[in-house]
Amino acid sequence: RCGYVAIVGRPNVGKSTLLNHVLQQKISITSRKPQTTRHNMLGIKTEGPNQIIFVDTPGMHLNHSKAINRYMNRSANTAVKDVDAVIFVVDKLHWTEEDEMVIKRLENNASPVILAINKVDELDDKEALLPHLQALNERVNVAEVVPISALRGHNLDRLEEIVVSYL
Ligand code: GDP
Ligand code: MG
Repeated sequence: RCGYVAIVGRPNVGKSTLLNHVLQQKISITSRKPQTTRHNMLGIKTEGPNQIIFVDTPGMHLNHSKAINRYMNRSANTAVKDVDAVIFVVDKLHWTEEDEMVIKRLENNASPVILAINKVDELDDKEALLPHLQALNERVNVAEVVPISALRGHNLDRLEEIVVSYL
C-alpha cells in the first residue's frame, strides 16, 4: 500500500517531532517556540510493501492579521485536501480555540481523521484523559483515536499501522 497522510494541528502540539521520530531523521525543525514549521515538509517512510508519504504542515492559526500566519494556514489547508488520511495531533489535556479551528477545517474534509493525542508521557494520571476523550469524541468525527508520545516514540507503531489501513 502507498499513500499520503497529512499531519495537522495547532502550533506546538508535536507535529514535527512526530514526523522526525517516525522517520528517524531530523526532517522538520522542532521547537518550544511556535511557528518553526513554515512550509509543508514531506517525509517518505518505506517499510516492506508499504510506503507512507507524510506531509508535515505548519500549525493552523486563529490570528489572521499577519501575512505569515495566513501563508501557514494556506499551506496546512492545501495539504489536507488531497491526502488519503489526516493525522490530527492534539496535546493531551491542553485544548484551545485553535484546536477548535482545526476541527472546523476538517469537518468538510473527505479523508478519514486519525486523532493522535500526543505528549502522554507528561501525564501522571492516565485516567485523567478519559473524560477529556469523551468530550473530544462529541466534537470531532474521528475514525480512530490513538494516544502517543512523539518525543519518546510511544505507540508510534500502532499509529503507523492505523495509517496504513487507510491507504
Ligand atoms: P509542532 O509545532 O506541532 O510541529 O511542534 P514541535 O514538534 O515543534 O514540538 C513542540 C514542542 O513540544 C517541542 O518542545 C517538543 O520537544 C515538544 N514535544 C513534542 N512531542 C512531545 C511529546 O510526545 N512529549 C513531550 N513531553 N514533549 C513533546
Ligand atoms: Mg512543526
